[in-house]
Amino acid sequence: MRRLLILGGGTAGTMIANKLRRRLDRDDWSITVVDRDDEHHYQPGYLFIPFGGYAPDDLVRSRRRLLAAGVRLLLAEVDRVRPADNTVVLEDGRQIPYDFLVVATGTAPHPEETPGLLEAEWRRTIFDFYTLDGALALADALESLDHGRLVVHITEMPIKCPVAPLEFTFLADAWLRQRGLRDRVELVYVTPLDGAFTQPLASARLGAMLTDRKVLVEPDFIVERVDSDRRVLVAYDDREVPFDLLVTVPLNMGAAFVGRSGLGDELNYVPVDKHTLLSLDHDNIFAVGDANDIPTSKAGSVAHFAVEVFVDNFLEHSSGRPMTGAFDGHANCFVESGDDKALLIDFNYDTQPLPGKYPLPLLGPLSLLEETRANHLGKLAFRHLYWHVLLPGLPLPLPANMSLAGKKMPSEET
Ligand SMILES: Cc1cc2nc3c(=O)[nH]c(=O)nc-3n(C[C@H](O)[C@H](O)[C@H](O)COP(=O)(O)OP(=O)(O)OC[C@H]3O[C@@H](n4cnc5c(N)ncnc54)[C@H](O)[C@@H]3O)c2cc1C
Repeated sequence: MRRLLILGGGTAGTMIANKLRRRLDRDDWSITVVDRDDEHHYQPGYLFIPFGGYAPDDLVRSRRRLLAAGVRLLLAEVDRVRPADNTVVLEDGRQIPYDFLVVATGTAPHPEETPGLLEAEWRRTIFDFYTLDGALALADALESLDHGRLVVHITEMPIKCPVAPLEFTFLADAWLRQRGLRDRVELVYVTPLDGAFTQPLASARLGAMLTDRKVLVEPDFIVERVDSDRRVLVAYDDREVPFDLLVTVPLNMGAAFVGRSGLGDELNYVPVDKHTLLSLDHDNIFAVGDANDIPTSKAGSVAHFAVEVFVDNFLEHSSGRPMTGAFDGHANCFVESGDDKALLIDFNYDTQPLPGKYPLPLLGPLSLLEETRANHLGKLAFRHLYWHVLLPGLPLPLPANMSLAGKKMPSEET
């Protein structure tokens, strides 16, 4: 019996287990998933919680029930991987041997890494929405906001879903307008980037949307500490941004055991070949989803497209054949923009987000880099697709690698 061990039963780990269970003979292969708890969260839904959009029940399901029959789930904290022995050690002392290992333990916010963030103002005037608890606490704080300075802040890149802080800002603008409070609340967007986003066309488009909404942008801001007594963010270059309500995205890091096991970079992400997701150091370890260091967005969509390529590659690699699939870094992200509209961006390692239609050229129905209601409905429909199509590992009729069909090159734009 050969043993596939998957660390992390989130988006990537669940899809991999369910897809491979169908493809690997049960008499030849065991599949085991390790996760610390039995609660699978639909994280994109956190964005809507502060604005009353979802309740926790809409976003949480039992992991066990999302995994196919024939996949074993161990509920335990991973303590370390011992690659030399092909063994994973759990915090409760159990040792789990493997033939192939997939690290799919994602990335998580670490507010303790920024001095001052977790002091007296945490969850009083300082919040995050990258955790369910944080999003719920922020809902209460927003409810009582009727004037002052609302600052949305990114500590450092990379973060998962890098458009989520922009989405939060657009939704806050719309929400305040609808309540007649927009004139009484100043909105500020503080980012370590030199603009709204990383890639030129998307950054220009999203930056213009911030300007239209009268959001003040503070770019190139590398936070050194939070002075919670004075309620200011302080940058390394001594710039200060005062706030009445701070919504921050803390430093995102991969799982600590990755670092302890000597498998990670300085942020505990596993260095992999960007096309096959195979560890650069170990021929029987892959890292899929947010846990790896590939140069594209950390997003559920990336995990999904990457898993499509990974599954066939895994079958080839584990039977001693060369891997023939090459993941291209394909990402697509809906960007909720308020008033029941959203944009969509679609890109990969080599092609920046371009305008056009998706997935069908000319027909769409989704529009790239353009705010439409159809995009908003697409974003909302995605939760259903996530639970019922993506996680069970059913096929979605979208190519894993990015297509240029329907996209307009910058020179074709008027
Ligand atoms: C606010 C927000 C909005 C988002 N919006 C979008 C969006 O619109 N579109 C999109 O594509 N993506 C979005 N994302 C990102 C998306 O949720 C993640 O990129 C995706 O879940 C990554 O999947 P993963 O399997 O790599 O990690 P995860 O799904 O996070 O799974 C990692 C798993 O590993 C487990 N784990 C970690 N460490 C250990 C350990 N030591 N021991 C045991 N278990 C461990 C965790 O419990 C977790 O279940 C959003 C994320 C957030 C926070």
